[in-house]
Amino acid sequence: MTSPAGSKPLVLVARRLLPAGEERLGAECTIVEGGPTATPERLRELAPGASAIVADPAVAVDEALLDAAGPQLSVVANFAVGYDNVDLEACRRRGVAVTNTPDVLTNATAELALALTLAAARRIGEAEADLRAGRWAGWDPGAYLGLELSGATFGSVGLGRIGRRYAELVHGLAGEILYTSRTPKPDAERELGASRVGLRELLRRADVVSLHVPATPETAGLIGREELAAMKAHAVLVNTARGPLVVAFALAEALREGSIGAAGLDVYEGEPAVPPELLEAPRCVLLPHIGSATTRAREAMARLVAENVLAVLAGAEPPNRVA
Ligand code: NAP
Repeated sequence: MTSPAGSKPLVLVARRLLPAGEERLGAECTIVEGGPTATPERLRELAPGASAIVADPAVAVDEALLDAAGPQLSVVANFAVGYDNVDLEACRRRGVAVTNTPDVLTNATAELALALTLAAARRIGEAEADLRAGRWAGWDPGAYLGLELSGATFGSVGLGRIGRRYAELVHGLAGEILYTSRTPKPDAERELGASRVGLRELLRRADVVSLHVPATPETAGLIGREELAAMKAHAVLVNTARGPLVVAFALAEALREGSIGAAGLDVYEGEPAVPPELLEAPRCVLLPHIGSATTRAREAMARLVAENVLAVLAGAEPPNRVA
């Protein structure tokens, strides 16, 4: 493990690392943490001399941060499977490896997508808010009528790790499972009876549409006004992938006008700010980016981050290199 004057290599953890990862990394590295509210300026102050940066979706790993770290920086280990917060080209130019934490959060995130599906379909968010605010006047045969999911057509946009697990979880409820994907998934077609269709057809036919593609230039604004207009009036849209996939004002408009039934969101463009139009939109369940927030997933992610950092610092190929 390389470091100046034989000292332990410095690892900048942009937020904080759970004990499962800290124990592993701390044995061989000096760890500096930015803490949950560290600003980009604060991270640049802490970065000089770092051999590794542990980032996460809330941390922009850009030219400025990479420059602040200096030429000894050899790895950016993202505490997430998505890595749209990392400037991959800037890392490549500097010879900095980039790693992520796939698989260990797949189930947790798919379970949250299922929770949002149920919450949005059955209007759980607004019903609970009304009860807590004293607005519940009594049992009402016409109140909070939602979508029954048994026999529904589920559409998974993307059928990678999380999309596939979501499809498995809804399989017992679904009448039919549709998916979009760049490549066909014969296993899912055979085992779950899933059918690959184009996005427009999926939007037109599905009662529930759940997004499971990464944020890339191609997927930005994937669900906008036209796509929402193609959906059924009772359909539920779930987004546990990334905020930029959905045009927030178009979604708020579709909910207001009743051109879709409900939405369940875990992610937003410009987090932690939440688009105000979504805060005001009806039949919309909003969560603060907690897709992978189970003890099991987060501890495994912390261990994986540590393994990736230690591998690169030891001159070995990391288990989860993405660039
Ligand atoms: P994955 O296994 O890589 O699956 C991604 C899927 O998207 C695949 O079906 C892939 O198609 C498709 N895809 C990839 N790039 C695409 C593009 N440019 N256009 C259209 N389709 C594309 O990823 P994953 O592990 O399932 O994770 C999916 C995303 O979930 C992550 O990128 C992350 O943003 C998000 N996520 C959110 C949370 C949360 O806390 N809310 C937690 C974990 C992950 P092919 O299979 O044909 O390549």
